Amino acid sequence: LYLIGLAVFIAALLVALITATWFGRLQSRPVHELVRVTHASHAGDYATRAQKLSEDELGELTDAFNEMLEEIEKRELALSRARDELEERVEERTRDLVNSQAELELAKNAAERANQAKSEFLANMSHEIRTPMNGIIGMSGLLAATELDEEQQEQLNMIQESARALLHLLNDILDFSKIEAAKLELESVEFSIGKCVGDSAKLLATRAADKGIELACRIAPDVPDLLEGDPSRLRQVLVNLAGNAIKFTSEGEVVIDVALVDGEQPSNAARLQFSVRDTGIGISPEARKGIFDAFNQADMSVTRRYGGTGLGLAISSQLVNMMGGEIRVESEEGTGSTFSFIVDFPVVADQSMKEPAELAELRDLPALVVDDNATNRFIFEETLSAWKMAPVGVESVAQGLKKLREAQNAGSAIRLLLLDVMMPEEDGFALLEHINADPELQRPIIIMASSGLAPGERERASNLGAARYLVKPVVQSELLDAVMEAFGKATPEESEGGEISPEHPVGLKILLAEDGI
Ligand code: ADP
Repeated sequence: LYLIGLAVFIAALLVALITATWFGRLQSRPVHELVRVTHASHAGDYATRAQKLSEDELGELTDAFNEMLEEIEKRELALSRARDELEERVEERTRDLVNSQAELELAKNAAERANQAKSEFLANMSHEIRTPMNGIIGMSGLLAATELDEEQQEQLNMIQESARALLHLLNDILDFSKIEAAKLELESVEFSIGKCVGDSAKLLATRAADKGIELACRIAPDVPDLLEGDPSRLRQVLVNLAGNAIKFTSEGEVVIDVALVDGEQPSNAARLQFSVRDTGIGISPEARKGIFDAFNQADMSVTRRYGGTGLGLAISSQLVNMMGGEIRVESEEGTGSTFSFIVDFPVVADQSMKEPAELAELRDLPALVVDDNATNRFIFEETLSAWKMAPVGVESVAQGLKKLREAQNAGSAIRLLLLDVMMPEEDGFALLEHINADPELQRPIIIMASSGLAPGERERASNLGAARYLVKPVVQSELLDAVMEAFGKATPEESEGGEISPEHPVGLKILLAEDGI
């Protein structure tokens, strides 16, 4: 009985176990179904729905789950449509951008071609206009040499002046268009920096003298004289800068200065700093920004007063760029401006001595510079010192006379006197008169320097005993010639001769080839 009871118990237990497992399986099926659909939606499949396996709470859960899936599917669809639209729009924009870039490129090329055509047209036109202009200037020059009454002379002067102004303008336009069309090329020839700077200053001498401005040029003694480059373009830049300086200055001075740049010099070349300094109206910081652009002028009211085209600085700065430099400007309104640039010039290997050997005989020569202008005094003293003389400088006739006497009493009488003509209080001629009136005073050799405007000055200087009369700005080579001549030591070039003198015509035959009539 006991055994039968145990068997019935075990059988009941097995039946219960089997029933529980079967029941559990039945209960977990909807849950498995939900897990399956969750995995599918994870993988991006929002269309699969869970199968409803019962009508109880699990069945409700399956319905809610399916509704949620439907909502997600709708959103996903909307999102993907929006993304497609966005992609389409980006594509469209990119296409537009590419198209407009191509259009821009076409427009740019067309503008460049038009610009080139304009520059070529300008270059041709300026050339065509220049030819008859030369005719007008040449013919009016010939006319000026004929007999004219005062009124005719005045009218002819006006024709010549206007023609020269017009020619200057045409030259500027021609240069500018050449530079724009990249047709301008720089020369590379051997030249003397002293002559180039001196010629530039000489070209402007009358303009400065007319306005009563001191025009000086200084070349530092250590600057090598023989260089390689384009002297006419360098002169053009210097004349333009110094011409502006004179134009915008009503009193004071304009100084063209050339110096070696401090520090390391490139091998076989000289790094030179050129500066043109004035004591004129100056340029406001605002105006300084655009003055190197073509046709740009600092201030329209200034332009109306002084005239000009606004091309000069644009051309000069482009020329300096071509030489490898850059023009800079420093300025203070009402005080003045300094335009400067640095350029390397190859130095000619055969650098012959700047000064002749005869100069050595004048070593330690006591010299006196009398000039009221401090810059001129500095330049003269520096030049004489570079020639190993012993100069002193004073600023007035009274001080000059005192110095002459003091030096004589000290046993080293002044042998060379460099004398400015125009000075406040007493002028240079007054000092000559004082010297002549003092029989005790040893006469130095006298070289006078003047703006040369007053008629008869040269003769007066000679009558009062001056050995030479130089017209300002005095350039080094000219001063050297004057000193050598005054001390009876002709410079080598002169002793070699070879100059054509008008008294001894040599009957040169000249061939002229010119297409203009
Ligand atoms: P412009 O032919 O009109 O003188 P530039 O190009 O030579 O043309 O000069 C442009 C402008 O720069 C001038 O109109 C002037 O306003 C200014 N400028 C140039 N040089 C000087 C200077 N030394 N002092 C004052 N202003 C200057």
